[in-house]
Amino acid sequence: MNIENSTRTTEDLTLQIIPRQEHGISRRDISENALKVLYRLNKAGFDAYLVGGGVRDILLGKQPKDFDIATNATPEEIKDLFRNCRLIGRRFRLAHILFGRDVIEVATFRGHHEDAKPAPQAGNNKKQQPVSAQNQEGMLLRDNVYGSIDEDAERRDFTVNALYYNIDDYSISDYTNGVQDLEDRIIRLIGDPETRYREDPVRMLRAARFAAKLDMTIEERTAAPIKELSTLLRDIPAARLFEESLKLLQSGQGFATYELLREYNLFQQLFPIQSEHFTEDKNSDTEKMIAYILKATDKRIAKDMRVNPAFMYAAMLWYPMTTRAEEISITSGLSYYDAFMVAANDILDEQVKTIAIPRRHTTTVRDIWQQQLRFTRRTGKRAFKAMEHPKFRAAYDFLEMRSNFEGDDVSELAQWWNDFQHGDNTNRNKMVQQINDGSGSRRPRRRKPQQRRRKPQAKPS
Ligand code: ATP
Ligand code: MG
Repeated sequence: MNIENSTRTTEDLTLQIIPRQEHGISRRDISENALKVLYRLNKAGFDAYLVGGGVRDILLGKQPKDFDIATNATPEEIKDLFRNCRLIGRRFRLAHILFGRDVIEVATFRGHHEDAKPAPQAGNNKKQQPVSAQNQEGMLLRDNVYGSIDEDAERRDFTVNALYYNIDDYSISDYTNGVQDLEDRIIRLIGDPETRYREDPVRMLRAARFAAKLDMTIEERTAAPIKELSTLLRDIPAARLFEESLKLLQSGQGFATYELLREYNLFQQLFPIQSEHFTEDKNSDTEKMIAYILKATDKRIAKDMRVNPAFMYAAMLWYPMTTRAEEISITSGLSYYDAFMVAANDILDEQVKTIAIPRRHTTTVRDIWQQQLRFTRRTGKRAFKAMEHPKFRAAYDFLEMRSNFEGDDVSELAQWWNDFQHGDNTNRNKMVQQINDGSGSRRPRRRKPQQRRRKPQAKPS
Protein backbone atom coordinates (compact mmCIF):
# COMPACT_ATOMS: atom_id res chain seq x y z
CA MET A 1 0.00 0.00 0.00
CA ASN A 2 1.23 3.45 -0.87
CA ILE A 3 1.62 5.31 2.44
CA GLU A 4 1.58 8.76 0.92
CA ASN A 5 -1.66 7.93 -0.75
CA SER A 6 -3.19 6.55 2.40
CA THR A 7 -2.75 9.80 4.32
CA ARG A 8 -3.86 12.15 1.55
CA THR A 9 -6.82 14.40 2.22
CA THR A 10 -9.95 14.44 0.14
CA GLU A 11 -9.95 18.19 -0.51
CA ASP A 12 -9.20 19.47 -4.01
CA LEU A 13 -9.67 16.19 -5.82
CA THR A 14 -10.59 16.13 -9.45
CA LEU A 15 -13.44 14.22 -10.97
CA GLN A 16 -12.56 10.96 -12.62
CA ILE A 17 -15.08 9.45 -15.01
CA ILE A 18 -14.70 5.75 -15.55
CA PRO A 19 -16.42 4.79 -18.79
CA ARG A 20 -18.71 1.80 -19.12
CA GLN A 21 -16.11 -0.56 -20.59
CA GLU A 22 -13.58 0.13 -17.81
CA HIS A 23 -15.53 -0.95 -14.75
CA GLY A 24 -17.30 -4.05 -13.59
CA ILE A 25 -20.84 -2.79 -13.04
CA SER A 26 -23.45 -4.22 -15.34
CA ARG A 27 -27.19 -3.58 -15.28
CA ARG A 28 -27.65 -7.26 -14.46
CA ASP A 29 -26.20 -6.54 -11.00
CA ILE A 30 -28.84 -3.91 -10.26
CA SER A 31 -32.33 -4.82 -9.09
CA GLU A 32 -35.18 -4.43 -11.53
CA ASN A 33 -36.92 -1.92 -9.26
CA ALA A 34 -33.84 0.25 -8.89
CA LEU A 35 -33.43 0.25 -12.68
CA LYS A 36 -37.08 1.25 -13.12
CA VAL A 37 -36.58 4.25 -10.84
CA LEU A 38 -33.32 5.27 -12.50
CA TYR A 39 -34.85 5.11 -15.99
CA ARG A 40 -38.04 6.93 -15.08
CA LEU A 41 -36.06 9.83 -13.55
CA ASN A 42 -33.77 9.86 -16.56
CA LYS A 43 -36.66 9.87 -19.05
CA ALA A 44 -38.25 12.79 -17.22
CA GLY A 45 -35.07 14.76 -17.86
CA PHE A 46 -33.43 14.45 -14.43
CA ASP A 47 -29.97 13.18 -13.61
CA ALA A 48 -30.15 9.76 -11.99
CA TYR A 49 -27.34 7.84 -10.38
CA LEU A 50 -26.98 4.68 -8.37
CA VAL A 51 -24.81 5.59 -5.39
CA GLY A 52 -23.63 4.36 -1.99
CA GLY A 53 -23.57 0.73 -0.94
CA GLY A 54 -25.08 -0.42 -4.24
CA VAL A 55 -22.12 0.73 -6.33
CA ARG A 56 -19.55 -0.08 -3.65
CA ASP A 57 -20.71 -3.64 -3.10
CA ILE A 58 -21.07 -4.48 -6.79
CA LEU A 59 -17.52 -3.26 -7.40
CA LEU A 60 -16.39 -5.49 -4.54
CA GLY A 61 -18.19 -8.44 -6.07
CA LYS A 62 -20.74 -8.55 -3.26
CA GLN A 63 -24.51 -8.57 -3.38
CA PRO A 64 -25.76 -5.10 -2.32
CA LYS A 65 -28.13 -5.01 0.66
CA ASP A 66 -30.18 -2.23 -0.91
CA PHE A 67 -30.01 0.28 -3.73
CA ASP A 68 -29.77 4.00 -3.12
CA ILE A 69 -30.35 6.56 -5.83
CA ALA A 70 -29.26 10.19 -6.08
CA THR A 71 -30.84 12.74 -8.38
CA ASN A 72 -31.20 16.46 -9.03
CA ALA A 73 -34.99 16.11 -8.80
CA THR A 74 -36.41 17.55 -5.58
CA PRO A 75 -38.48 15.32 -3.29
CA GLU A 76 -41.65 16.93 -4.61
CA GLU A 77 -40.62 16.36 -8.22
CA ILE A 78 -39.85 12.74 -7.36
CA LYS A 79 -43.26 12.37 -5.75
CA ASP A 80 -44.94 13.72 -8.89
CA LEU A 81 -43.20 11.07 -10.97
CA PHE A 82 -44.01 8.01 -8.87
CA ARG A 83 -47.40 6.96 -7.58
CA ASN A 84 -45.77 4.55 -5.11
CA CYS A 85 -43.70 7.28 -3.46
CA ARG A 86 -43.53 8.41 0.20
CA LEU A 87 -41.53 11.38 1.35
CA ILE A 88 -39.87 10.67 4.67
CA GLY A 89 -37.49 12.21 7.19
CA ARG A 90 -37.26 15.67 8.64
CA ARG A 91 -33.56 15.79 9.42
CA PHE A 92 -32.77 14.31 6.03
CA ARG A 93 -35.73 14.49 3.71
CA LEU A 94 -35.86 11.86 1.01
CA ALA A 95 -38.20 9.80 -1.12
CA HIS A 96 -39.01 6.13 -0.70
CA ILE A 97 -40.31 4.39 -3.80
CA LEU A 98 -42.19 1.32 -2.66
CA PHE A 99 -42.43 -1.92 -4.61
CA GLY A 100 -44.18 -4.21 -2.17
CA ARG A 101 -41.60 -4.86 0.53
CA ASP A 102 -38.74 -3.59 -1.59
CA VAL A 103 -37.92 0.07 -0.95
CA ILE A 104 -35.73 2.16 -3.23
CA GLU A 105 -34.36 5.24 -1.49
CA VAL A 106 -34.05 8.34 -3.66
CA ALA A 107 -32.16 11.35 -2.29
CA THR A 108 -31.86 14.79 -3.83
CA PHE A 109 -28.24 15.99 -4.21
CA ARG A 110 -27.16 17.75 -1.01
CA GLY A 111 -25.29 21.06 -1.14
CA HIS A 112 -23.07 23.06 1.21
CA HIS A 113 -24.63 24.76 4.15
CA GLU A 114 -22.94 28.14 3.90
CA ASP A 115 -24.81 29.00 0.73
CA ALA A 116 -28.07 27.53 1.94
CA LYS A 117 -30.90 28.08 -0.50
CA PRO A 118 -34.36 27.25 0.76
CA ALA A 119 -35.56 23.96 -0.57
CA PRO A 120 -38.48 24.24 -2.97
CA GLN A 121 -41.68 23.36 -1.12
CA ALA A 122 -44.86 21.95 -2.55
CA GLY A 123 -47.48 24.67 -2.27
CA ASN A 124 -46.76 28.09 -0.89
CA ASN A 125 -49.05 28.03 2.09
CA LYS A 126 -46.91 25.50 3.99
CA LYS A 127 -44.86 26.82 6.84
CA GLN A 128 -41.27 26.95 5.60
CA GLN A 129 -38.97 24.68 7.60
CA PRO A 130 -35.35 25.75 8.00
CA VAL A 131 -33.42 23.72 5.45
CA SER A 132 -30.34 23.46 7.55
CA ALA A 133 -29.72 23.57 11.27
CA GLN A 134 -26.82 22.81 13.55
CA ASN A 135 -26.46 22.56 17.32
CA GLN A 136 -23.63 23.99 19.41
CA GLU A 137 -21.49 20.88 19.01
CA GLY A 138 -21.66 21.30 15.23
CA MET A 139 -24.18 18.51 14.85
CA LEU A 140 -26.46 18.80 11.82
CA LEU A 141 -30.03 18.76 13.01
CA ARG A 142 -31.28 19.28 9.50
CA ASP A 143 -29.56 18.60 6.21
CA ASN A 144 -31.94 19.66 3.48
CA VAL A 145 -29.84 22.07 1.48
CA TYR A 146 -29.94 20.93 -2.12
CA GLY A 147 -27.01 21.26 -4.46
CA SER A 148 -25.05 19.80 -7.35
CA ILE A 149 -23.63 16.30 -7.71
CA ASP A 150 -20.07 17.34 -6.84
CA GLU A 151 -21.32 19.02 -3.66
CA ASP A 152 -23.36 15.92 -2.94
CA ALA A 153 -20.20 13.82 -3.21
CA GLU A 154 -18.49 15.97 -0.60
CA ARG A 155 -21.42 15.57 1.79
CA ARG A 156 -21.29 11.79 1.72
CA ASP A 157 -19.44 9.97 4.47
CA PHE A 158 -16.67 7.79 3.02
CA THR A 159 -14.91 7.86 -0.33
CA VAL A 160 -15.98 4.28 -1.08
CA ASN A 161 -19.60 5.37 -0.57
CA ALA A 162 -19.38 8.35 -2.92
CA LEU A 163 -19.23 6.58 -6.28
CA TYR A 164 -22.00 7.43 -8.75
CA TYR A 165 -23.15 5.09 -11.49
CA ASN A 166 -24.76 7.20 -14.19
CA ILE A 167 -27.78 5.57 -15.84
CA ASP A 168 -27.42 7.92 -18.81
CA ASP A 169 -24.13 6.52 -20.13
CA TYR A 170 -23.32 3.72 -17.62
CA SER A 171 -20.14 5.46 -16.49
CA ILE A 172 -18.99 5.89 -12.89
CA SER A 173 -18.26 9.36 -11.54
CA ASP A 174 -15.62 9.36 -8.82
CA TYR A 175 -15.10 12.73 -7.12
CA THR A 176 -13.08 11.56 -4.10
CA ASN A 177 -10.78 8.83 -5.39
CA GLY A 178 -13.11 6.21 -4.02
CA VAL A 179 -12.24 3.57 -6.61
CA GLN A 180 -8.60 3.71 -5.52
CA ASP A 181 -9.61 3.41 -1.85
CA LEU A 182 -11.84 0.49 -2.71
CA GLU A 183 -8.88 -1.24 -4.34
CA ASP A 184 -6.62 -0.39 -1.40
CA ARG A 185 -9.40 -1.41 1.02
CA ILE A 186 -9.37 1.85 2.93
CA ILE A 187 -12.25 3.51 4.78
CA ARG A 188 -11.55 7.21 4.42
CA LEU A 189 -13.86 9.97 5.59
CA ILE A 190 -14.43 12.77 3.08
CA GLY A 191 -13.32 16.21 4.32
CA ASP A 192 -12.07 17.11 7.78
CA PRO A 193 -12.75 14.13 10.05
CA GLU A 194 -13.48 16.06 13.23
CA THR A 195 -15.96 18.38 11.49
CA ARG A 196 -17.67 15.48 9.77
CA TYR A 197 -17.98 13.48 13.02
CA ARG A 198 -19.34 16.52 14.81
CA GLU A 199 -21.91 17.04 12.06
CA ASP A 200 -23.09 13.48 12.51
CA PRO A 201 -21.48 11.31 15.22
CA VAL A 202 -23.13 8.20 13.75
CA ARG A 203 -20.43 8.37 11.07
CA MET A 204 -18.04 7.00 13.72
CA LEU A 205 -20.23 3.91 14.04
CA ARG A 206 -20.45 3.64 10.28
CA ALA A 207 -16.65 3.72 9.98
CA ALA A 208 -16.41 0.72 12.29
CA ARG A 209 -19.31 -1.03 10.58
CA PHE A 210 -17.89 -0.75 7.08
CA ALA A 211 -14.38 -1.65 8.20
CA ALA A 212 -15.66 -4.85 9.81
CA LYS A 213 -18.20 -5.71 7.13
CA LEU A 214 -15.92 -5.09 4.17
CA ASP A 215 -12.75 -6.23 5.92
CA MET A 216 -11.10 -2.88 5.29
CA THR A 217 -8.80 -0.63 7.31
CA ILE A 218 -9.88 2.69 8.75
CA GLU A 219 -7.41 5.25 7.44
CA GLU A 220 -5.30 7.00 10.08
CA ARG A 221 -6.78 10.49 9.84
CA THR A 222 -10.26 8.99 9.80
CA ALA A 223 -9.55 6.88 12.89
CA ALA A 224 -7.60 9.46 14.90
CA PRO A 225 -10.40 11.59 16.42
CA ILE A 226 -12.86 8.78 17.11
CA LYS A 227 -11.94 7.88 20.68
CA GLU A 228 -12.03 11.46 21.79
CA LEU A 229 -15.29 12.28 20.04
CA SER A 230 -17.00 9.00 20.93
CA THR A 231 -19.02 10.65 23.71
CA LEU A 232 -20.83 12.77 21.09
CA LEU A 233 -22.94 9.68 20.47
CA ARG A 234 -24.81 10.57 23.64
CA ASP A 235 -26.56 13.32 21.69
CA ILE A 236 -27.98 10.96 19.08
CA PRO A 237 -31.65 10.08 19.57
CA ALA A 238 -32.00 6.64 21.12
CA ALA A 239 -34.43 5.54 18.39
CA ARG A 240 -31.81 6.11 15.68
CA LEU A 241 -29.25 4.22 17.76
CA PHE A 242 -31.55 1.23 18.03
CA GLU A 243 -31.67 1.02 14.23
CA GLU A 244 -27.91 1.45 14.07
CA SER A 245 -27.34 -1.20 16.74
CA LEU A 246 -29.07 -3.76 14.54
CA LYS A 247 -27.04 -2.76 11.50
CA LEU A 248 -23.89 -3.04 13.59
CA LEU A 249 -24.58 -6.29 15.39
CA GLN A 250 -27.09 -8.14 13.25
CA SER A 251 -25.82 -7.86 9.73
CA GLY A 252 -23.42 -10.73 9.54
CA GLN A 253 -20.20 -9.35 11.05
CA GLY A 254 -21.46 -8.57 14.53
CA PHE A 255 -18.52 -9.97 16.46
CA ALA A 256 -15.84 -8.22 14.38
CA THR A 257 -17.85 -4.99 14.55
CA TYR A 258 -18.16 -5.27 18.33
CA GLU A 259 -14.42 -5.69 18.72
CA LEU A 260 -13.75 -2.60 16.61
CA LEU A 261 -16.43 -0.58 18.36
CA ARG A 262 -14.92 -1.51 21.67
CA GLU A 263 -11.43 -0.57 20.58
CA TYR A 264 -12.67 2.89 19.60
CA ASN A 265 -14.67 3.39 22.80
CA LEU A 266 -17.89 3.42 20.78
CA PHE A 267 -19.48 0.27 22.14
CA GLN A 268 -19.13 1.77 25.62
CA GLN A 269 -21.32 4.72 24.61
CA LEU A 270 -24.13 2.56 23.30
CA PHE A 271 -23.93 -0.11 25.98
CA PRO A 272 -22.83 1.53 29.23
CA ILE A 273 -24.40 -1.16 31.42
CA GLN A 274 -22.47 -3.99 29.78
CA SER A 275 -19.28 -1.96 29.71
CA GLU A 276 -19.22 -1.71 33.50
CA HIS A 277 -18.52 -5.44 33.46
CA PHE A 278 -15.63 -5.19 31.00
CA THR A 279 -12.23 -6.49 32.09
CA GLU A 280 -8.66 -6.31 30.75
CA ASP A 281 -8.69 -9.93 29.63
CA LYS A 282 -12.23 -9.76 28.22
CA ASN A 283 -13.12 -12.75 30.32
CA SER A 284 -16.03 -11.65 32.47
CA ASP A 285 -19.30 -13.54 32.10
CA THR A 286 -20.82 -10.55 30.33
CA GLU A 287 -18.00 -10.39 27.80
CA LYS A 288 -18.10 -14.13 27.20
CA MET A 289 -21.83 -13.95 26.66
CA ILE A 290 -21.56 -10.99 24.26
CA ALA A 291 -18.91 -12.79 22.22
CA TYR A 292 -20.99 -15.95 22.21
CA ILE A 293 -24.26 -14.36 21.13
CA LEU A 294 -22.64 -12.25 18.43
CA LYS A 295 -20.75 -15.20 16.96
CA ALA A 296 -23.92 -17.28 17.06
CA THR A 297 -25.82 -14.46 15.34
CA ASP A 298 -23.17 -14.20 12.62
CA LYS A 299 -23.44 -17.93 12.01
CA ARG A 300 -27.22 -17.80 11.74
CA ILE A 301 -27.04 -14.95 9.25
CA ALA A 302 -24.47 -16.84 7.20
CA LYS A 303 -27.01 -19.67 7.01
CA ASP A 304 -29.82 -17.25 6.08
CA MET A 305 -31.62 -17.96 9.34
CA ARG A 306 -33.74 -15.38 11.14
CA VAL A 307 -32.23 -13.45 14.02
CA ASN A 308 -34.17 -11.92 16.84
CA PRO A 309 -33.11 -8.59 18.39
CA ALA A 310 -34.86 -9.46 21.65
CA PHE A 311 -32.84 -12.65 22.08
CA MET A 312 -29.61 -10.76 21.46
CA TYR A 313 -30.50 -8.04 23.94
CA ALA A 314 -31.65 -10.60 26.49
CA ALA A 315 -28.24 -12.27 26.23
CA MET A 316 -26.17 -9.09 26.28
CA LEU A 317 -27.94 -7.87 29.40
CA TRP A 318 -28.33 -11.18 31.25
CA TYR A 319 -25.33 -11.07 33.59
CA PRO A 320 -25.60 -7.34 34.32
CA MET A 321 -29.24 -8.05 35.19
CA THR A 322 -28.62 -11.09 37.42
CA THR A 323 -25.76 -9.29 39.17
CA ARG A 324 -28.12 -6.43 39.86
CA ALA A 325 -30.81 -8.83 41.09
CA GLU A 326 -28.39 -10.33 43.59
CA GLU A 327 -27.39 -6.91 44.84
CA ILE A 328 -31.01 -5.89 45.22
CA SER A 329 -31.98 -9.05 47.06
CA ILE A 330 -29.11 -8.57 49.52
CA THR A 331 -29.62 -4.90 50.16
CA SER A 332 -33.40 -4.74 50.12
CA GLY A 333 -34.33 -8.04 51.67
CA LEU A 334 -36.67 -8.81 48.75
CA SER A 335 -36.98 -12.43 47.71
CA TYR A 336 -34.70 -13.34 44.80
CA TYR A 337 -37.73 -13.64 42.53
CA ASP A 338 -38.94 -10.14 43.33
CA ALA A 339 -35.44 -8.70 43.17
CA PHE A 340 -35.02 -10.36 39.78
CA MET A 341 -38.15 -8.66 38.43
CA VAL A 342 -37.08 -5.28 39.81
CA ALA A 343 -33.61 -5.71 38.31
CA ALA A 344 -35.09 -6.71 34.93
CA ASN A 345 -37.12 -3.50 34.81
CA ASP A 346 -34.24 -1.33 36.04
CA ILE A 347 -31.76 -2.68 33.54
CA LEU A 348 -34.14 -2.36 30.61
CA ASP A 349 -35.09 1.18 31.65
CA GLU A 350 -31.41 2.08 31.69
CA GLN A 351 -30.64 0.44 28.36
CA VAL A 352 -33.48 2.18 26.52
CA LYS A 353 -32.01 5.54 27.51
CA THR A 354 -29.18 5.01 25.02
CA ILE A 355 -30.83 2.51 22.70
CA ALA A 356 -34.58 2.72 22.36
CA ILE A 357 -35.38 -0.98 22.08
CA PRO A 358 -39.04 -0.98 21.05
CA ARG A 359 -41.53 -2.22 23.60
CA ARG A 360 -42.43 -5.36 21.64
CA HIS A 361 -38.81 -6.45 22.07
CA THR A 362 -38.38 -5.44 25.73
CA THR A 363 -41.51 -7.45 26.50
CA THR A 364 -39.90 -10.50 24.92
CA VAL A 365 -36.62 -9.87 26.76
CA ARG A 366 -38.52 -9.83 30.05
CA ASP A 367 -40.43 -13.00 29.10
CA ILE A 368 -37.24 -14.84 28.23
CA TRP A 369 -35.68 -13.82 31.53
CA GLN A 370 -38.72 -14.65 33.63
CA GLN A 371 -38.95 -18.09 32.07
CA GLN A 372 -35.42 -18.79 33.31
CA LEU A 373 -36.74 -18.63 36.86
CA ARG A 374 -39.80 -20.66 35.97
CA PHE A 375 -37.65 -23.41 34.48
CA THR A 376 -36.46 -24.32 37.95
CA ARG A 377 -40.03 -24.95 39.08
CA ARG A 378 -41.13 -28.18 37.53
CA THR A 379 -43.48 -29.84 39.98
CA GLY A 380 -47.18 -30.50 39.49
CA LYS A 381 -48.52 -28.94 36.30
CA ARG A 382 -45.81 -26.28 36.11
CA ALA A 383 -43.58 -27.91 33.54
CA PHE A 384 -46.55 -28.53 31.22
CA LYS A 385 -47.67 -24.93 31.64
CA ALA A 386 -44.20 -23.59 30.89
CA MET A 387 -44.19 -25.37 27.56
CA GLU A 388 -47.34 -23.56 26.52
CA HIS A 389 -45.73 -20.17 26.96
CA PRO A 390 -45.43 -18.42 23.58
CA LYS A 391 -41.77 -17.71 24.26
CA PHE A 392 -40.95 -21.22 25.45
CA ARG A 393 -38.70 -22.00 22.49
CA ALA A 394 -36.65 -18.81 22.82
CA ALA A 395 -36.48 -19.19 26.59
CA TYR A 396 -35.31 -22.81 26.29
CA ASP A 397 -32.64 -21.84 23.75
CA PHE A 398 -31.56 -19.17 26.20
CA LEU A 399 -31.29 -21.72 29.01
CA GLU A 400 -29.21 -23.92 26.81
CA MET A 401 -26.94 -21.02 25.99
CA ARG A 402 -26.50 -20.25 29.67
CA SER A 403 -25.36 -23.79 30.27
CA ASN A 404 -22.17 -22.86 28.41
CA PHE A 405 -21.24 -20.41 31.12
CA GLU A 406 -22.95 -21.45 34.31
CA GLY A 407 -22.50 -24.53 36.50
CA ASP A 408 -23.67 -28.11 36.18
CA ASP A 409 -27.02 -27.20 37.69
CA VAL A 410 -27.94 -25.18 34.64
CA SER A 411 -26.62 -27.85 32.26
CA GLU A 412 -28.67 -30.50 34.03
CA LEU A 413 -31.71 -28.28 33.94
CA ALA A 414 -31.26 -27.63 30.22
CA GLN A 415 -30.89 -31.36 29.62
CA TRP A 416 -34.04 -32.06 31.60
CA TRP A 417 -36.02 -29.56 29.55
CA ASN A 418 -34.59 -30.95 26.36
CA ASP A 419 -35.76 -34.44 27.31
CA PHE A 420 -39.07 -33.15 28.54
CA GLN A 421 -40.05 -31.27 25.41
CA HIS A 422 -39.05 -34.17 23.18
CA GLY A 423 -40.65 -36.88 25.31
CA ASP A 424 -44.14 -38.27 24.86
CA ASN A 425 -46.79 -37.68 27.48
CA THR A 426 -46.02 -40.82 29.46
CA ASN A 427 -42.38 -39.88 29.67
CA ARG A 428 -43.19 -36.34 30.62
CA ASN A 429 -45.46 -37.45 33.42
CA LYS A 430 -42.73 -39.77 34.65
CA MET A 431 -40.19 -36.98 34.60
CA VAL A 432 -42.42 -34.68 36.58
CA GLN A 433 -43.24 -37.51 38.99
CA GLN A 434 -39.52 -37.95 39.64
CA ILE A 435 -39.19 -34.28 40.38
CA ASN A 436 -42.20 -34.42 42.66
CA ASP A 437 -40.75 -37.46 44.47
CA GLY A 438 -37.27 -36.03 44.46
CA SER A 439 -38.33 -32.78 45.94
CA GLY A 440 -40.45 -34.78 48.37
CA SER A 441 -37.66 -37.01 49.63
CA ARG A 442 -34.54 -34.94 49.24
CA ARG A 443 -35.88 -31.64 50.28
CA PRO A 444 -38.76 -32.05 52.65
CA ARG A 445 -41.09 -29.15 52.36
CA ARG A 446 -40.35 -26.77 55.10
CA ARG A 447 -43.09 -25.96 57.42
CA LYS A 448 -44.00 -22.38 57.76
CA PRO A 449 -41.36 -20.94 60.00
CA GLN A 450 -42.84 -20.49 63.37
CA GLN A 451 -42.79 -17.05 64.68
CA ARG A 452 -40.08 -16.78 67.18
CA ARG A 453 -41.36 -15.84 70.51
CA ARG A 454 -39.83 -12.67 71.57
CA LYS A 455 -38.48 -12.39 74.97
CA PRO A 456 -40.52 -9.87 76.78
CA GLN A 457 -38.47 -6.78 76.92
CA ALA A 458 -37.67 -5.23 80.17
CA LYS A 459 -39.75 -2.22 80.60
CA PRO A 460 -37.82 0.94 80.68
CA SER A 461 -37.83 2.20 84.06
P1 ATP B 1 -25.48 -0.49 3.44
O1 ATP B 1 -24.82 -1.62 2.77
O2 ATP B 1 -25.51 -0.62 4.91
O3 ATP B 1 -26.80 -0.09 2.84
P2 ATP B 1 -24.71 2.09 2.46
O4 ATP B 1 -23.36 2.69 2.25
O5 ATP B 1 -25.58 1.94 1.27
O6 ATP B 1 -24.46 0.73 3.19
P3 ATP B 1 -26.87 3.59 3.59
O7 ATP B 1 -27.15 3.84 5.03
O8 ATP B 1 -27.81 2.79 2.80
O9 ATP B 1 -25.42 2.95 3.56
O10 ATP B 1 -26.65 5.02 2.93
C1 ATP B 1 -26.52 5.20 1.53
C2 ATP B 1 -25.44 6.22 1.24
O11 ATP B 1 -25.83 7.48 1.79
C3 ATP B 1 -24.07 5.92 1.83
O12 ATP B 1 -23.32 5.09 1.02
C4 ATP B 1 -23.48 7.31 1.92
O13 ATP B 1 -23.01 7.75 0.68
C5 ATP B 1 -24.68 8.15 2.30
N1 ATP B 1 -24.82 8.28 3.76
C6 ATP B 1 -25.55 7.50 4.58
N2 ATP B 1 -25.47 7.89 5.85
C7 ATP B 1 -24.67 8.98 5.85
C8 ATP B 1 -24.20 9.87 6.87
N3 ATP B 1 -24.54 9.70 8.14
N4 ATP B 1 -23.39 10.89 6.48
C9 ATP B 1 -23.04 11.06 5.19
N5 ATP B 1 -23.44 10.26 4.21
C10 ATP B 1 -24.25 9.22 4.51
MG1 MG C 1 -27.58 1.32 1.26
